[in-house]
Amino acid sequence: MDNLWSDIKVNLKESMPSHAYNTWFEPISLVGHSESELVLEVPNQFFYEWIESHYKNHISKTAEEIIGKSIFIKYTVAPEKELRLEKSAIVEEVKKPRNRPNLNKRYTFPGFIEGTNNQFARAAAVAVAKSPGQQSFNPLLIYGGVGLGKTHLLHAIGNYIYSEGEASKIVIASSEKFTLDFISSIQKNKTVDFSKSYRKADVLLIDDIQFFQKKEQTQEQFFHTFNELYQKGKQIVMTSDRLPGEMSGLTDRLLSRFESGLVVDIQPPDFETRVAILMEKAEQNGLDMPYDMVEFMATHIKTSVRELESTIIRLLAYSSLSNCEIDFNLVKKVVRERVGSGVPVDISATDIIKRVSEITKIEEKEIVGSSRRMKIAEARQIAIYLCREIIGSSLVDIGMRFGGRDHTTILHACRNIEKKIKTDRRISHLVRSLQQDLTFSLI
Ligand code: ADP
Ligand code: MG
Repeated sequence: MDNLWSDIKVNLKESMPSHAYNTWFEPISLVGHSESELVLEVPNQFFYEWIESHYKNHISKTAEEIIGKSIFIKYTVAPEKELRLEKSAIVEEVKKPRNRPNLNKRYTFPGFIEGTNNQFARAAAVAVAKSPGQQSFNPLLIYGGVGLGKTHLLHAIGNYIYSEGEASKIVIASSEKFTLDFISSIQKNKTVDFSKSYRKADVLLIDDIQFFQKKEQTQEQFFHTFNELYQKGKQIVMTSDRLPGEMSGLTDRLLSRFESGLVVDIQPPDFETRVAILMEKAEQNGLDMPYDMVEFMATHIKTSVRELESTIIRLLAYSSLSNCEIDFNLVKKVVRERVGSGVPVDISATDIIKRVSEITKIEEKEIVGSSRRMKIAEARQIAIYLCREIIGSSLVDIGMRFGGRDHTTILHACRNIEKKIKTDRRISHLVRSLQQDLTFSLI
C-alpha cells in the first residue's frame, strides 16, 4: 500500500504534460490507507474541487490498473491552509491546533513581491511585525484598491509575529466577521464574551474596515475595543479599500481614531512589478514561462495582482484540460479572454506605423527614421507606445523595428506618451482614437 501511491504518481506523470502533473499531483500526499481506501491530502479546497472535477477517474483508474481491483479515494484538505473553508462533507476532520489564529500561511513577507507601488506599505508592515505596539505605527492602516495585496500584508504581519513564537495573542478578523460576531452575541446575550474575545488581543488585525460604514452600533463596539487595546499599547492594524475620510457613515470619533496612526497606501503594480509577480507566480506553480510570454501578459493585464494570479491559474487550467503545452497562442487566448477584445493578435508594427502615418500625415519612413523635428518625434513616440500597448512587443523588438533604437529610448518614449496622455488632451484623444481604430479594424 505504501508503494501504491508512488506507483500511481509515476503512472500519472507519464500520462500528462509535466506542468499539469507538477501543478495538481506533485503537491498531493498520502496520509492514510486501508485495504479498500486511500486518503490523500491536498493543499486547499480549490485543489480538491479541481481534482474532483477533472481527474477523479484518472486517479482511481490508475490505482485499479496497478492493484487489479477498485479502490476508494478520499480527500482531506491540509489543515493549516484551510482558512476560508466552509464546513463541508469532504473535509471530514480538519483539525486546527488550538490557539492558532486564523492566518493564511501562504501570505508571508517573503512571498510578497516588492515594487515601487507597495514599498512603503510593506516597510511599515514589516516594522509593525518586528515591534508591534510602537506608538508612531499604531494603528497602522493599509489602504488601496481591490486585489493589490492588503489582506496579504495583514496576514504576513500575523504570520511573522506568530512564527517568532512570542506569546502574543493574535486576533484576526474581517470587519464583516467582527460585525457578525457582535450581532450574534447580542442575539445570544453574550456581549461580554464577545468583548473579551476581541479585547484579549495583543495584536488586532482587522481586514476591510470599509464594511463598518453605516453600522453605528458595531462602530461603537469597535471604538471601545480599539480604545482599550490602544491604551494598553497593543498593536492594531487595519485595511481598507478607501481612505477613512472617503467613507460615508463613519462616526467622527472613529474616523479620527483610524487616522491617528500611520496611513499607507498600495498602488496598482507598475510594469516591472507585474513582470516580477508573474515570474514568481509561474514558478510557484511549477510553470517555466519564457520571458516574452511574461512580458506580453504584464503588458495587458494591469489592474491587480489578483488578476495576474488568476491569469496564471487559467493558463494552467486550460493546458491541463486540453492536454496541451503552454505556448504563445494559448497565452494570447487566455489574456484576450481576460481583457476582452483589446488584444488583437494579428496586428503588426507595420499596421500601426501605417495607421499613425495616415492620421498624422507623416511619412512612414520618417516615423522610423531619425529626424528630431517635434511633429515627427511625436508621431514616432505614439507609434512606439501603440506597439507596446496593442501588440505587447518587447522593448528590444520595438527598438529594432524603429531604426535600431536602444531599448531605453523605447521605454522613454512609452513613458513620455503615458505621461502626456494624462496631461495633454490632444495627445490623449489622438492615442485613444488610434487605439480604437486599430483594434476594431483588425479583429
Ligand atoms: P486585497 O486584500 O488588497 O484585495 P489580496 O491581499 O487578497 O488583495 O491579494 C490578492 C492576491 O494577490 C493574493 O493571492 C495575494 O497573495 C496576491 N498578491 C498581492 N500582492 C502581492 C505581491 N506584492 N506579491 C505577491 N503576491 C501578491
Ligand atoms: Mg482583501
